[in-house]
Amino acid sequence: MVMDLPSELEFSLVTPDRQVVRESVIAVSIPGKDGYLGILPGHAPLLTELKPGEVSYTSAGITHYLAVSEGFAEVLPQRVIVLAQASERPEEIDLSRAEEARRRAEEILRQVESEAEREEARRALERAMARLEVAGRASRP
Ligand code: ATP
Repeated sequence: MVMDLPSELEFSLVTPDRQVVRESVIAVSIPGKDGYLGILPGHAPLLTELKPGEVSYTSAGITHYLAVSEGFAEVLPQRVIVLAQASERPEEIDLSRAEEARRRAEEILRQVESEAEREEARRALERAMARLEVAGRASRP
């Protein structure tokens, strides 16, 4: 028997401060802990940790981009829910702040010996790199 797959899914992205996205979309890509996940309607359910990176989603023929920091995502056949510590659209990103955050993290990684401090700096560097990458993105058909 051939089952009809749903053609759209409900995509929500929330942070502790705000609902950033709640839209019906045809595709979502999220930065999972083990790599980017491309999700289409009807995807098998899964739960994953996020690493800082770029989320993209396509709705009404346009692909949109967002930076996310750490968090979690739940994927269901007709729903994707992303819970992120922070998320920004390209136009919300303050480039000089992200460049400064990258510079600071790289400086710490050059100097500090403690593994805990290095780990914190590595995460800060990932967040900064994600913001710098997404800042240059424009929504596109
Ligand atoms: P910074 O050291 O510059 O604060 P961070 O990676 O430690 O960077 P987060 O803790 O991830 O910052 O985010 C704190 C808040 O600041 C969030 O609301 C996030 O959206 C916002 N934010 C962080 N960096 C930027 C940026 N470059 N442009 C716009 N908003 C930012």
